[in-house]
Amino acid sequence: MKVAVVGAGLSGLNAGRILSEYCKVAVFEPHSLGGLAGSFCTGEYCIEKFYHHFFRSDDYLLSLLKTLKLSGKTVWKTARIGQEFNGNLYSLSTPVEILKFPGLSILDKIRLAIFTLKAKKIEYEKYDETGVIEGLKRDVGERLYDNFFLPLLKAKFGENYREVSYAWLLARVSIRSNRKLFGEELGYLRGGFHQLVERLSENLEIRKEKARIEKSGKWTVNGEKFDSIVFTAPIPELGSLGEKLGIKPVRYQSSICLLISMDSPFTENLYWVNYPNEPFGATIEHTNFMPLEDYGEHLMYVAGYTIPENLSKLQDEQLFRLWLSSLKKYGLEERNIRWWRVFKAKYSGAVYVKGFRKLITPYRLADGLYYAGLTSKDNYPERSMNGSLLAGKNAAELVIKDHLS
Ligand SMILES: Cc1cc2nc3c(=O)[nH]c(=O)nc-3n(C[C@H](O)[C@H](O)[C@H](O)COP(=O)(O)OP(=O)(O)OC[C@H]3O[C@@H](n4cnc5c(N)ncnc54)[C@H](O)[C@@H]3O)c2cc1C
Repeated sequence: MKVAVVGAGLSGLNAGRILSEYCKVAVFEPHSLGGLAGSFCTGEYCIEKFYHHFFRSDDYLLSLLKTLKLSGKTVWKTARIGQEFNGNLYSLSTPVEILKFPGLSILDKIRLAIFTLKAKKIEYEKYDETGVIEGLKRDVGERLYDNFFLPLLKAKFGENYREVSYAWLLARVSIRSNRKLFGEELGYLRGGFHQLVERLSENLEIRKEKARIEKSGKWTVNGEKFDSIVFTAPIPELGSLGEKLGIKPVRYQSSICLLISMDSPFTENLYWVNYPNEPFGATIEHTNFMPLEDYGEHLMYVAGYTIPENLSKLQDEQLFRLWLSSLKKYGLEERNIRWWRVFKAKYSGAVYVKGFRKLITPYRLADGLYYAGLTSKDNYPERSMNGSLLAGKNAAELVIKDHLS
């Protein structure tokens, strides 16, 4: 039995790792390993191209880290979070700071606290068909929607925000509300997630090729016959085969992360800051989360979302200049910057539109053709490392059940 895995992101690598215990596996990946969770290495250290952390609820990821003997590197930290308001950055990490924040009235803060507690208990699936605007306006009122949620939705989904499902927001609030007294508890793999990618790919045969799937009797990848294929790349990469198989098309969003190395910190101690009125959505100061000595320089991501059609509108230098001119308002000086890099991902996640549950891509696409990835059930209603690893496992187990047991 010979299986091809298309894509070496977390879904593909985990599917390949599991399958390779049962049969011959070839993983096709034209780019570097890790996909969206891939890293950039300076020679001194490696850091994710896009900011990454995990949550206490990521059971499968945490158990896999144990299996791969990486759990000793797991660190949990209380990350301080903040928000821009009227040109100033405010920490919203402690109850006192939240009470002092001038951007919301006391009444709205109480409403927000009650909503956050309630969201944790709501069965979000029930709201799959409800629009986020409708749900929020009903549950938190117009003012809190306009002043707090709307800018965050626009930053995350751009003009697509009107079509987003309330289920996505409820699940997101529930995951992100693991608050401690001084902020939000988040996990990280000290030294970087490239270690996870390396462990997953340790014994795999990687073909540095873009895969083209065809069916001529058997399934073929780039002309070579395989008994089964696990496809983990974005659905548009299937081309006309996707349509032929009746796979429901999914709208994707794109991500841009500007990674900046600095001589000194941008904020005193904030990890994550939201900016409702800037061309980017957030700054994520990695070295206010992980120790500076791991890197020897201060590292910060500036993150924005867009649609695939707009991803290449600005060259890296133009984007850096545009975002830098905004960051200067909050005190970032160009002479403080050592180097910068722009990372772009065209298909960085699905837009979780109303009724998305019906668009979820099944694990079995056809006899001998399987799928695991960003639009799998395990990545609903929000994509994550945990979801993609789990999707890879579930697709691999289906191949084993269908052909090897
Ligand atoms: C900005 C950002 C921040 C994130 N932060 C977090 C976080 O903090 N915590 C968290 O849990 N998750 C986070 N995620 C989500 C997480 O990175 C993803 O859910 C996960 O890495 C997706 O893995 P995947 O294998 O399903 O897909 P991908 O990583 O997209 O992998 C698909 C692979 O297929 C390859 N490919 C494409 N076309 C072809 C082809 N024709 N032939 C062969 N290969 C092909 C691609 O190059 C890619 O390597 C974040 C994502 C982004 C974009």
